[in-house]
Amino acid sequence: MAEPTSTQTCPACGATGTGGAKYCSQCAAPFDPTVSLREPARAKWYHNVWFVLVMLFFVLGPFGLPLVWKNPRFSRGLKIGLTVVTIAYTVWLVDLTMRVVKAVTEGVNQFNSSLTF
Ligand SMILES: [Zn+2]
Repeated sequence: MAEPTSTQTCPACGATGTGGAKYCSQCAAPFDPTVSLREPARAKWYHNVWFVLVMLFFVLGPFGLPLVWKNPRFSRGLKIGLTVVTIAYTVWLVDLTMRVVKAVTEGVNQFNSSLTF
């Protein structure tokens, strides 16, 4: 047992604990600062839920789906749901674009035919 037996001060509530204890007996916060830092360190900036959603719907479209699937904050059901929504959104967007292109093309054709007698 190489565990040091010095007293530790709780970083959360300031209570002193006996040496070797991993968690505060008063508030259950971890004495080891690396324990509490591990979770935020694992959370990457691109795991921010709103960032992923904005990228998904306004920037990347279906190309943003890897961000969703790699994100540990999304549950499996939510990942599948977002994938379906993104695909539907993309199909709708492509359909809309084609309608606009068709309308513009027809408008140009009408304009051209109105010029030629
Ligand atoms: Zn404490």
